[in-house]
Amino acid sequence: MDFRLTPEQVMIQKTVRKFAEEVCEPIAAEIDKEHRFPHETFKKMTECGITGIGFPKEYGGSGLDKIAQTIATEELAKKCGTTSAVFSIHQGAAWFIHLFGSHEQKEKYLRPLLEGGVVGAFALTEPNAGSDASNLQTVAVEDGDDYILNGSKCFITGGSVAGIYFVLALTDPPAKTRGISAFIVEAGMPGFEVGKIEEKMGIRGSATAEIIFKDVRVPKENLMGKLNKGFSMALASIDAARITVAAAQALGIAEGAFEHAVQYSKERVQFGKPISYKQGLQWYIAEMKTRIEAARWLTYHAAWRSDQKLSVTTEGAMAKLYASEAASFVTNKALQIHGGYGYMMDYPIERMLRDAKITEIYEGTNEIQKMVIGRSALS
Ligand SMILES: Cc1cc2nc3c(=O)[nH]c(=O)nc-3n(C[C@H](O)[C@H](O)[C@H](O)COP(=O)(O)OP(=O)(O)OC[C@H]3O[C@@H](n4cnc5c(N)ncnc54)[C@H](O)[C@@H]3O)c2cc1C
Repeated sequence: MDFRLTPEQVMIQKTVRKFAEEVCEPIAAEIDKEHRFPHETFKKMTECGITGIGFPKEYGGSGLDKIAQTIATEELAKKCGTTSAVFSIHQGAAWFIHLFGSHEQKEKYLRPLLEGGVVGAFALTEPNAGSDASNLQTVAVEDGDDYILNGSKCFITGGSVAGIYFVLALTDPPAKTRGISAFIVEAGMPGFEVGKIEEKMGIRGSATAEIIFKDVRVPKENLMGKLNKGFSMALASIDAARITVAAAQALGIAEGAFEHAVQYSKERVQFGKPISYKQGLQWYIAEMKTRIEAARWLTYHAAWRSDQKLSVTTEGAMAKLYASEAASFVTNKALQIHGGYGYMMDYPIERMLRDAKITEIYEGTNEIQKMVIGRSALS
């Protein structure tokens, strides 16, 4: 039997597609140019229940599943890479508390993330802990009923605008990865500061920032999950998050660029005929389409496995690796099909090409995905 989306998933696809066309696309170029976080879009996404897709209604979510989250990210990414990044990374942060938070923590922090319009951020990376996330230097020292956090995080999406941060810090430094714990930090806590706000190549509206902790006193009830288990929790959460954050986002950007390329090739006349008549370009279109479809099925399959509560470590890594490379390939060829016009900011293609690149880097670089896939294949 052929794979079919359920009626609910089709409804989400239509709803988010309309939202992306009417709300995201009109300001995509502007927020890119101004490096501006799309607060108004985030507010509307919350009002329409889009931020809650895939989360339980019990905590303010909209229900549905990982496939629905994947489709929602894909639809947003077709029109605006920044919005899909903002949405999916916010959801990735919320997923962390969904998986590992206590009932009280979910009431206090998950609900505002899903229905309260508060932006969430996931803070793992540090200047000396990128791919080697085990090399953290941020520390949390027990002090009475609190932990005191000191250190800094870099490249945090939503870092300068979030209200709730999920922060990984060392609670037992000699134990390395077995001495890392996860904390919920509020933006208003004394000693919490936003540092450098990055100027970036793509997804420019996603408010990537450094965050700094100077003796931030975090109550013990904000420790998430078990003490010293934060590293494995973070890895499990990222396994699922990369299906949306990277793979679905890449898929959507590729599809968006593909649609523009097909349209342009039919309209642009050279040598007396639309350039779509040229076999050289038809071959580009064929290669683009094939890679998009391969990326789609790897991505949907990984999301389906997540919904079945099956491991997604390898499948998510394969989807992320393939879809992100497909997005770079497709946006590059789409720009080529546009010729010189594609290089101009009047057309969305150069932005899509810039936005696509991040999907090869974050949520674990593609080299790290190859390590994961290779190990699994050889085990
Ligand atoms: C725009 C943006 C948003 C981000 N958002 C967040 C966020 O919200 N939260 C967060 O915690 N982090 C975030 N990050 C951080 C991101 O996850 C890291 O940049 C990424 O994991 C790579 O780390 P690094 O930049 O330190 O590169 P490095 O780890 O220094 O890697 C440099 C190069 O070496 C390669 N390399 C490293 N180790 C190996 C190896 N063992 N084998 C082969 N090759 C290797 C890498 O693949 C890469 O090509 C974001 C980054 C960017 C750019």
